[in-house]
Amino acid sequence: MGGLWFTEKQTDHYGITMKVKRTLHTEQTDFQMLEMVETEEWGNMLLLDGMVMTTVKDEFVYHEMVAHVPLFTHPNPEKVLVVGGGDGGVIREIMKHPSVKKAVLVDIDGKVIEYSKQYLPEIAGELDNERVEVKVGDGFMEIAESENEYDVIMVDSTEPVGPAVNLFTKGFYDGISKALKEDGIFVAQTDNPWFKADLIREVQNDVKEIFPITRLYIANVPTYPSGMWTFTLGSKQHDPLDVADSRFHEIDTKYYTKELHKAAFVLPKFVADLTK
Ligand code: SAM
Repeated sequence: MGGLWFTEKQTDHYGITMKVKRTLHTEQTDFQMLEMVETEEWGNMLLLDGMVMTTVKDEFVYHEMVAHVPLFTHPNPEKVLVVGGGDGGVIREIMKHPSVKKAVLVDIDGKVIEYSKQYLPEIAGELDNERVEVKVGDGFMEIAESENEYDVIMVDSTEPVGPAVNLFTKGFYDGISKALKEDGIFVAQTDNPWFKADLIREVQNDVKEIFPITRLYIANVPTYPSGMWTFTLGSKQHDPLDVADSRFHEIDTKYYTKELHKAAFVLPKFVADLTK
């Protein structure tokens, strides 16, 4: 294969490879190796510690599904917290909901925010919105210091290694419950069922012990390991499968729809088995 290729080893025996036009920026930050590359197929792409975080071509799937499922489930989401999410994609989607008066983003690595603004303007463009407060810090600490504050919390973190290792623990989910208001909802990205089934099962079991409503939903993210991605939702009162049609206001999306909101919770059997 001529030219420069990037390969992400997704397991010890499997990965994806893609042709790179040029490297835009590489830096070992205080927390991770940050790389911004321009690819032939997927446009500009952010890598952290060699793992695909987001690409201009397919980012909308993940960001729409993290944001719109909880925001349409909650009857009146006004204050939202994003843990991680320094590329700004989830914030961009949150801004499409006029009920949200304030969105707080806490990412541990300010360099991700800085270089996403520079090289991913299509994704990071709303980080300077007046309704957004951007903080650089550990999401685990932010949650520990919050109580009865948020309607919706979204955990858009890296994998449970390195700086995000604490963001997949029962203690963190307990903290999320405390940081949420009495009818709050949270969603966390919970990786893929092909290579991370044990993680999904463990998170489901932890969240079930804390939230009366615990759900798992999926979406197709071609540049993520296996292409099938999962999201775990915990809710104190509102069920994402019981949303009145009147809740679904018009919204500009490329993946999420009112019909897909419900269909995303229809799981292949081998995935549904992880929720039992
Ligand atoms: N969509 C990607 C995924 O599913 O893997 C996540 C993308 S987003 C860029 C991940 C962000 O989580 C990174 O910017 C990273 O700095 C941030 N992060 C990791 N650990 C964190 C922590 N403890 N507190 C806050 N942000 C954290």
